[in-house]
Amino acid sequence: MDEECDGIILGTGHNALVLQAYLCRCGLKVLSLDRAAVAGGGLATIENPRLPGYFHNTHSFFHRALSTMPWYQDLEVERHGARYVEPELNVALVLRDGRSLQWWTDFEKTFDSFAQFSRRDAQALRRWRDEFQPLLHGILIPEARSPPLPMEQRQQLLSGSRLGRRLLEVSQRSPLEFVVQEFEHDVVRAGLLFFNGLREVDLRLQGFGHSIPALLASDRMAQMCVGGSARLAEALVKDIHEHGGDVRTSVEPRSILIHNGRACGVELADGERLEARGFIASGLNPQQTFLTLIDAAAAGPSLRGQAAGFEYNLLAPLFALNLALREPPRYAAAADNPALDKAFMVILGLERFAQFHEIVAAHEKGQVPATVMWGACPTRFDPRQAPPGRHTAFMWEKLPYAIEGDPRKWDQLAHEHGQQLLRLWTTYAPNLADAVLDVFPRSPLDTQRTLPNMHSGDLLVGSFANGQVGANRPFPGAGHYRTPVNGLYLCGGSTHPGGNITGLCGYNAARVIAADLGCRIWWTPPDVERSLTSLP
Ligand SMILES: Cc1cc2nc3c(=O)[nH]c(=O)nc-3n(C[C@H](O)[C@H](O)[C@H](O)COP(=O)(O)OP(=O)(O)OC[C@H]3O[C@@H](n4cnc5c(N)ncnc54)[C@H](O)[C@@H]3O)c2cc1C
Repeated sequence: MDEECDGIILGTGHNALVLQAYLCRCGLKVLSLDRAAVAGGGLATIENPRLPGYFHNTHSFFHRALSTMPWYQDLEVERHGARYVEPELNVALVLRDGRSLQWWTDFEKTFDSFAQFSRRDAQALRRWRDEFQPLLHGILIPEARSPPLPMEQRQQLLSGSRLGRRLLEVSQRSPLEFVVQEFEHDVVRAGLLFFNGLREVDLRLQGFGHSIPALLASDRMAQMCVGGSARLAEALVKDIHEHGGDVRTSVEPRSILIHNGRACGVELADGERLEARGFIASGLNPQQTFLTLIDAAAAGPSLRGQAAGFEYNLLAPLFALNLALREPPRYAAAADNPALDKAFMVILGLERFAQFHEIVAAHEKGQVPATVMWGACPTRFDPRQAPPGRHTAFMWEKLPYAIEGDPRKWDQLAHEHGQQLLRLWTTYAPNLADAVLDVFPRSPLDTQRTLPNMHSGDLLVGSFANGQVGANRPFPGAGHYRTPVNGLYLCGGSTHPGGNITGLCGYNAARVIAADLGCRIWWTPPDVERSLTSLP
């Protein structure tokens, strides 16, 4: 062995970095390794190679309620240079006829916008928001910020209180059933499912009826990192360095070394061997971790079978079109509603609730559905991401990873599809016809190439179907960040509470690993058992 430390983390996605930062602050010597040239995984901001000074966020951009995450304060990310803004007109679904359904940080403005479509729906929105606020704060937030309770214990605790029973009751439905049963207007139904549903959860999935009301009850909405998403990764790396940790990029792990049944190191593709006294944690997906990096004999058939059975969310992959612009997109609908010029997330092409079924059907057949897109013009809120007076913008679309069964078709299709998307975008924002300086697409295949842990372009790193939730995520026996291999832990989006930029997988894993290593927990994590026991 060439080097020795307390722990090694595979991958430097934000969950891995959050985990590393907590453990370094425990006084442990921790090293993280990534095949990419830059740390951060889904926190990526690249400078346009053809137009210096224009920056594009090629993976995540909308970071929901990020500044409220416990690690945001604990790890002092603002002192390290990260800063978040949360634009007031947070989301606008712009219709072809110029009307728009708007979500504001001020709920009363959201209510008024919904009431223009249906007064009854606006009232339902308020009712669900009010009813779900105590469930969100008393149950769902403490659960997301804690290692998951065993399923039976959770069920038992929730059954013992009025709020818990209500959550269990609402959860039984699918997001689709929730929206159809509780809201009447076609546009409101479409908007709620799109903004609040489709992103995280397959809308047909029973057991997730609570996901839309939980989002409605949230105090905070989509935020963006000033300077670009990568600034958050840089802030986390600064904290790690400040506390003695090391982040190594452009290195390819070949295998996790196991000695006497215990994970004890990592071998790199160039033959270098790194030893860890305390633990190995993987921010990669279960197949990478258990099938590729661990010797088949050491993993054993049962663990390999469970890892192989881990499923991905086929509705998750994104196609992205990135623009460098002379001026920001100016939506025709803003002529009657100037607030739209300041809308953060803009959704276009979504007119009818029935489009969901069309999108899902197209995904299942590997075909491209009629375009529904959403995106932003980051430079409206952060001029630093382009040269003075200039802008960047992007739109995303949910498209299948494999076109007619073959992901490689994206290499021929991406440019042409991007042009189609731009033509449609221009019908809503006519000035784009003369404003575009540069354009480049990124396909679901590009996602999988850049971040192979996002298998089949699944940016959530694993579906919530197949029972892959809570203590069973990624699968029973590995759902507490500990795995069946002694000394080996998981910490990426394939663990509880799942993908997206929340950092909570890493936050929760830190508590488990620190406890196992006998370290003092210097931060104050929530006590989920007490929260659930003390519910009214
Ligand atoms: C186009 C796109 C848009 C998105 N938009 C949003 C958004 O707006 N909001 C949001 O919340 N989420 C968004 N996401 C999802 C979000 O980026 C992910 O869910 C999140 O990044 C997962 O975090 P993670 O910590 O699990 O690891 P990741 O961020 O996925 O990072 C994993 C790391 O592991 C490394 N790695 C992979 N394989 C290996 C290997 N074999 N060896 C070594 N290293 C390896 C990768 O290089 C990477 O650095 C988006 C994703 C994509 C692709």
